[in-house]
Amino acid sequence: MRSKKVLTEKSIPGYSYDVKRQRQDRDTYGFQLTRREFLKGCAAGSCILSLSSLLGVPTPSQAQLVKKALIKTKLSPWFTTLDRGEVQCELCPIRCRIPRGKRGICRVRENRDGKCYSLVYGNPCALHLDPIEKRPFFHVLPGTNSLSIATVGCNFQCKFCESWEISQASPEDVYSYDVSPEMVVMKAKEMGAHAVAYAYVEPTIFYEYMLDTAHLVKKGGLLNVMHSNGFINRVPLENLCKVLDAANIDLKGFTDIFYQELCDGHLPPVLETLKTLKRENVHLEITNLIIPTKNDEMSVVREMCLWVKRELGEDTPIHFSRFYPLYKLKHLPPTPVSTLEKARSVALAAGLEYAYISRVPGHEGENTYCPRCKKMIIRRAGFMVVEMNIKGGKCGYCGKPIPGIWA
Ligand code: SF4
Repeated sequence: MRSKKVLTEKSIPGYSYDVKRQRQDRDTYGFQLTRREFLKGCAAGSCILSLSSLLGVPTPSQAQLVKKALIKTKLSPWFTTLDRGEVQCELCPIRCRIPRGKRGICRVRENRDGKCYSLVYGNPCALHLDPIEKRPFFHVLPGTNSLSIATVGCNFQCKFCESWEISQASPEDVYSYDVSPEMVVMKAKEMGAHAVAYAYVEPTIFYEYMLDTAHLVKKGGLLNVMHSNGFINRVPLENLCKVLDAANIDLKGFTDIFYQELCDGHLPPVLETLKTLKRENVHLEITNLIIPTKNDEMSVVREMCLWVKRELGEDTPIHFSRFYPLYKLKHLPPTPVSTLEKARSVALAAGLEYAYISRVPGHEGENTYCPRCKKMIIRRAGFMVVEMNIKGGKCGYCGKPIPGIWA
């Protein structure tokens, strides 16, 4: 008889670190999840793997499905032809000029015979079933799962990237799956997902794959959601908005110098993306990862929140997310919870109605409160929804409409 797999502390990747952190939080801030809640949160968040893990050598059962250096091309509609066979990619604000036989900065767009091709059409290297809270969406079908997909590559080079093994890789470096847009939809339905999420790396760089998949997802009655750095040109974005239901955009900082020094990017195009998504009626949430000494000035956080309120509306949810030391910023400490609490207070004082603290499981800032009657309407524990009192998109206590997608 096969023995039943028991979820233990040791079977959860990152558990010991999280437990240490939780104990520290309990001692410092006086809150903590119960052990049962934490294990359930981990089960929902980390352990529902479908076909793959990010990068690495495949397990024997995966070996049939994945191939190293899988490249599948698709002609990009987003380029202009220059002299001497060069092309200019028009997908993101970098607008790479790509000579014949070379690739753009994202490593997945190549000039072949004077035309620009995507190299990652239908070959994702990550395919996970995740709680939608992990993407992170707090106002989109709470408590459901999304099938998340990503290919290699990115148009940013963030020093704090959590997915740098795939975002900073080339298609030749990784194992990828051969998964057509049709198969994504089929898998999503089979696995009981309510949405397909384009995430982990910057989805703009696998735009053609995302767009074709998104059309089929829509036809199949599921949602399309995207977690993005917002670094995309307006025309392709507007085209995508026709099938996009929700976007969570990383507003990584609120100064151009932060974007230049830590991401190799720029702030203004990201702000333009946020305004376009709002104008196109895509449900919008914002994530601001707060990194000690890099973007934790509360005067700048305030400026950012006032901009969000003025340009996007006071009901735009914003997530202040905790930084953990990794990649090129290993020398920095994790964000103190007190800093996240200050940022949340600043956001609420600036008039934003839904300000969250992310990645501090059990913190009260993970919950949703009605801005009118102040009652808790969604209680969360990590990525798990514990209680919810929203009825027909309205606060279950006072009837105030709550922005989001609820059914
Ligand atoms: S999508 Fe890639 S190739 Fe195109 S402009 Fe951006 S970084 Fe360059």
